Amino acid sequence: MHTVHINNSRAYDVLIGPGLLSRVGEFMREAIPPCRAAIISDSTVDALYGDEVESSLRTAGYAPLRCTFPAGEQNKRLDTLGEILEFLAENHMTRTDVIVALGGGVTGDMAGFAAAVYVRGIRFVQVPTTLLAAVDASVGGKTAVDLKAGKNLAGAFHQPSLVVTDTDVLRQLPQALLSDGAAEMIKHGVLADPELFDALCRPDWTERLDELVARNVAIKRDVVNADEFETGLRQQLNLGHTFGHAIEKCSDFALSHGQGVAIGMVIAAGAADQTEICRKIIAACRSCGLPVKSPYSAEELARAALSDKKRKGDRITLVLPETIGKCRLEKIDVAGLEDAFRRGIAMAEALA
Ligand code: MG
Repeated sequence: MHTVHINNSRAYDVLIGPGLLSRVGEFMREAIPPCRAAIISDSTVDALYGDEVESSLRTAGYAPLRCTFPAGEQNKRLDTLGEILEFLAENHMTRTDVIVALGGGVTGDMAGFAAAVYVRGIRFVQVPTTLLAAVDASVGGKTAVDLKAGKNLAGAFHQPSLVVTDTDVLRQLPQALLSDGAAEMIKHGVLADPELFDALCRPDWTERLDELVARNVAIKRDVVNADEFETGLRQQLNLGHTFGHAIEKCSDFALSHGQGVAIGMVIAAGAADQTEICRKIIAACRSCGLPVKSPYSAEELARAALSDKKRKGDRITLVLPETIGKCRLEKIDVAGLEDAFRRGIAMAEALA
């Protein structure tokens, strides 16, 4: 088992290894004395893993409750959050109790937000069941729901007390969900870890899943630790995201986050005029089953990107790779964004 210690406004451990789902209760005992534990998950994950987690909690002395909502990003919204909060209140959960967020990014974000606001904040334990949630959403304490105007527009920073990632669960994921997580792993490689990047270019990378997940969590921790409230350095984690969000949006979210980020990273390298890096990112994305070409024009993407929440005034910050392992931030006028898309798309077309 790998343990990554996180030490920001709250210190906690991220545990990564096979067979951990049936030991969630045992690990929780070290951080949280027995209490009521509301397991929040979506209908799909609850059916697969709810019983196992519930019995693990019961064995460890907790009083588990199950709160399930219908699976799907479209349910990550205020009225589902409201139902979760009402569930917690009806069951007389108090500030000494705990939420267990069992699931992927939607569950982690929404159950985490419920934990942030219920009785002005209770503890929560995150049990990610997708690779994306394991390498990305489980570190940094970002919680949110979507609003009609856009994704993640209402939320809070709230750190978990413990994260337990069972890599046997991740190994069961369909290829599309593994690829989705791999996009953020490639991103972490481009930001800080050439060896990780190279590992992802090899076809056997999933055989090293435990170690690679741990490396990703450590990279994200180091970036977040340096900048917990996202004012400077942490913006680097947006590599591929300004472009990627625009692609997701143009596809009406038919393209996944990972697919958008993959194409977005290729565009970022192209926009930075980095031919070799662009070629390498294309190779890594293909190795992990991710697309590299934008189905949309620079004009369409620029229009979509300009409603992005990361926009501040008339300037927009791009994250541009300098080498595999180092990126820089560049503020540009929003008027120049379409041109950045155009250069990025042109290079992707030339190389892919
Ligand atoms: Mg992301």
